[in-house]
Amino acid sequence: MSDIVLATNNPGKIREFGQMAKEHGINLLPMPAGLDPEETGSTFLENAIIKASAAAALSGLPAVADDSGLEVDALGGRPGIHSARYCEGNDGDRRVKLLAELKDVAAEARGGAFVCAMAMCTPDGRVLHTTEKRWYGRIAFEERGANGFGFDPIFLLLDRDETSAEITNEEKNILSHRGQAWRQMLDYIRIGTTSS
Ligand code: IMP
Repeated sequence: MSDIVLATNNPGKIREFGQMAKEHGINLLPMPAGLDPEETGSTFLENAIIKASAAAALSGLPAVADDSGLEVDALGGRPGIHSARYCEGNDGDRRVKLLAELKDVAAEARGGAFVCAMAMCTPDGRVLHTTEKRWYGRIAFEERGANGFGFDPIFLLLDRDETSAEITNEEKNILSHRGQAWRQMLDYIRIGTTSS
């Protein structure tokens, strides 16, 4: 089984990545203690590379990291790379703020996408592989569902009257931005393909 460091402290992400890694014979190790690199990039991918290269350098092992967020069409792509810091407080506070910003936006103009960029880096600073995937949906008018994390209770699936907090973890992994990006990365890890 290959050992790879996963550079995140987010429990929701650890759960989603861990489930899929196990199915592919990959042993994910936790991020080295004390690592908290500043996300100074201007794109999801730049931030993923910053996190993966810092974790690889500190642990001496290959590391993967993702950077993700929610792009809302009616807000010109905001909160985007700033999703985790969209406002002070917790995930619930951020959902309340987003619903308030969109209170006058009609159903047909509430499109958006979760984005996940992922990078794998070596301890000597090489970027081995990158990928970026999107999961398109709509922003709901109110919260529904208790699964998932972050903006899941207000992210409506396309052509379905369910939020991503109302589907199972297994189905979310099949559909989601993170699931798509991680499967692509796992293919690279297993067979060394370079397509993305
Ligand atoms: P980061 O990638 O750790 O910088 O933070 C990403 C932020 O985007 C999270 O804190 C969530 O607010 C949001 N986000 C990313 N992926 C998801 C998801 O799958 N569901 C809900 N919110 C997400």
